[in-house]
Amino acid sequence: MIDVKNLVKEFQVENHTFRAVDDVSFHVDKGEIYGIIGLSGAGKSTVVRCINRLEEPTSGRITIDGVNITALNDKELLGERKDIGMIFQSFNLFHQKTVYENIAYPLEIMGVEKSEIKERVMELLKFIDLEEKINAYPSEMSGGQKQRVAIARAIATKPKILLSDEGTSALDPANTKQIIALLKKIVKEMGMTIIMITHQMEVAKDICDRIAVMEDGKIIEENTVENLFRAPKHKRTLSFIQTLQDEPNGDILNPEDFEGTLFRLTYKDESTKDWILNDCIKKYDVNVNVLAGKINTINESAVGYLIIEMRGEDTEILLAKKYLEEKDVNVEVM
Ligand code: ADP
Repeated sequence: MIDVKNLVKEFQVENHTFRAVDDVSFHVDKGEIYGIIGLSGAGKSTVVRCINRLEEPTSGRITIDGVNITALNDKELLGERKDIGMIFQSFNLFHQKTVYENIAYPLEIMGVEKSEIKERVMELLKFIDLEEKINAYPSEMSGGQKQRVAIARAIATKPKILLSDEGTSALDPANTKQIIALLKKIVKEMGMTIIMITHQMEVAKDICDRIAVMEDGKIIEENTVENLFRAPKHKRTLSFIQTLQDEPNGDILNPEDFEGTLFRLTYKDESTKDWILNDCIKKYDVNVNVLAGKINTINESAVGYLIIEMRGEDTEILLAKKYLEEKDVNVEVM
């Protein structure tokens, strides 16, 4: 559905060229929710702004449903933009317009008949469950309600893709959950494809099918959300995962306080954990002490974390570590 190839975006800053997006390529399938996560300044927004050509790419190619977005002239681009909806952290609603007028706006621009606009807006209000706010102004609504209206406005023209630039970042956890549920409903019922930019790993884990991690303008790692959590390859990814609340990241544990070796295990299937550790103790001359553990539900599947202390001869510990890895457990020495 969305294909980004060798995307580069450079900005002229004073007398030098700054490369904000550096040779980024990725593909998003229809009906997929694709997350782009990274620290502030990593280049996430610029990638997304190139997709709807709010920024002109310096080089590279972007195709959406077979249409080469990068090659469109201004007139063609206007037509194509109705296929790309976007929501923002700050909602960007028109403050002087009511909820009805905000949602109707993109349809009016397209020249849709008044009666048809009314029908579509009513349908969308029902979809976002805000029928009672039809005549309210943005200032009379909560952040979560404003974002629901912004989503209705973004999907009013039935776009093929929806881009979310930190769409949940200004919301409290309860409203964030509501928005995540709404976005999932949009994918399920309308077959939409979504790209979500976020710096919140807890949001990405609850909604994305796949995640790309960006740093310094590059994608440094990309994987399904389950695999990314289970076996992060890059330090930055690991630090994002460790920002998740309550996760045993080991910060509270000082390896020097322990006689044995501390391992942080990540495993996919909760049911296998016990017997793998059990087998490990039986097979090798090691003792295991469980220090902390947690299960994280990631997009409806579970990933477990365990911090263990392992005692024994170095060679036995090495063999036990290898055994765990062979059983598809990600093992990190702390
Ligand atoms: P993110 O969304 O990951 O926070 P951005 O894509 O907004 O990152 O920005 C990436 C880098 O590009 C930042 O260093 C930012 O300052 C720079 N940048 C973004 N837009 C411009 C611009 N119009 N002019 C110059 N630099 C820019």
